[in-house]
Amino acid sequence: MDPVTDSLHEMHQRLSALREGKVADYIPQLALADPDDFGVALVSMAGHVYRAGKADTPFSIQSVSKPFVYALALSDLGPQELLRHVGVEPSGNPFNAISLEPDTGRPANPMINAGAIATTALVRESDPAARFARIRAFLSAFAGRELDVDEDVYASEAATGDRNRALAYLMHSAGSLHADPEETVDTYFRQCSVRVTATDLAVMAATLANGGRNPVTGNQVVSEPIVVRTLAVMASCGMYDGAGQWLLDIGLPAKSGVSGGLIAASPARFGVAIYSPPLDPSGNPVRAVAALGEVSERFGLHIMHMPGLRAATVTGAERLERDGRSIGVVTAQGSLEFTETEALMHALRQVTPSAPGWVVLDLTAVSAVLRGPAVGLAAVLADLAERGHHVAVAAQQTFVEAAEGRPRTWEVFSTRADALAWCLEGPAPAPQE
Ligand code: GLN
Repeated sequence: MDPVTDSLHEMHQRLSALREGKVADYIPQLALADPDDFGVALVSMAGHVYRAGKADTPFSIQSVSKPFVYALALSDLGPQELLRHVGVEPSGNPFNAISLEPDTGRPANPMINAGAIATTALVRESDPAARFARIRAFLSAFAGRELDVDEDVYASEAATGDRNRALAYLMHSAGSLHADPEETVDTYFRQCSVRVTATDLAVMAATLANGGRNPVTGNQVVSEPIVVRTLAVMASCGMYDGAGQWLLDIGLPAKSGVSGGLIAASPARFGVAIYSPPLDPSGNPVRAVAALGEVSERFGLHIMHMPGLRAATVTGAERLERDGRSIGVVTAQGSLEFTETEALMHALRQVTPSAPGWVVLDLTAVSAVLRGPAVGLAAVLADLAERGHHVAVAAQQTFVEAAEGRPRTWEVFSTRADALAWCLEGPAPAPQE
């Protein structure tokens, strides 16, 4: 076994002894779940899957479907339009409460039942069957396999779902649900009855953690800006009336469901999912809350945690004197985000010759550049050129593309040697006094 699987097994074994919580029984079919069922799965950004316990036992997805359907509605309507229909504020109330704005009837957020029902109705399709087909296909793309419906859970939920029907009728009468209430809850019940395993949910969570690209199949399921919004709403509202405590203790965007499923996404690291039916009073699976607490603590995953400084970005900053020319050379590696680019700009200032001379920026080992930092860097280079320096950049396309749209006041080369050779072209300058 590998160390990741080892630690999942160790945790699984220890937390199996945890016997608190109660299996949901308001949907009769859910009451049949075995309280001892307990599965854990984790999927890395490289698409590697690690499991412990009953990670392949099927169960209905329930509310864990909500963030994904929210992402679907976001891509259909766009953020501003969706916000007009469904809020983004934590309700502080249980998942099935009447959390509607007094004047408009707009539901508080898409992670509670009222908001999820309204969100389901907004998925743009001509009829309920097509709408559900689209939802199922979307969930399947996140999971990386074709998901089906647990018809027994669906029938059980449809037979006992009066509270959800009531929520739909209330929203309809308040003017915040523009679709047929019966049809809408029926689609919502089907959505909640989609059958998954902890492994499926971990792949789905990993897809969110990976900016919308499923790390197992390689498919871009949804765009990154939509993922950012979805994860933000999960972080503030995903754990119902336990959301504040969860953000405080565990600090990861997460979503739970009454059948005992829970997902958490650690952006750019991994997706994790747990299946364990006994729930705490907020409707969150007891063992999952304990397990995520441990995982977050052990690996320092809290989103407010100060990450350790990354490997050095600036790997060289020097001033060369060649053929009577002063050439400042800065070399960088890795990925350029705010912190790294700030260090890079500082290094450029340090090596820039005092009189007009040459500056070489070697970015050949830079793997990625965010647009904001690239534009900032381009402005610094433009300023150097304005002050009379000859500026050469050795870079892969990443930087050139990210800085696109800025006036190009520098020469681009594919290697550092070419950039340096360019500095030495032409007659040597007259010696400075
Ligand atoms: N289908 C369930 C319901 O509407 C989903 C609730 C949940 O998982 N919290 O009651």
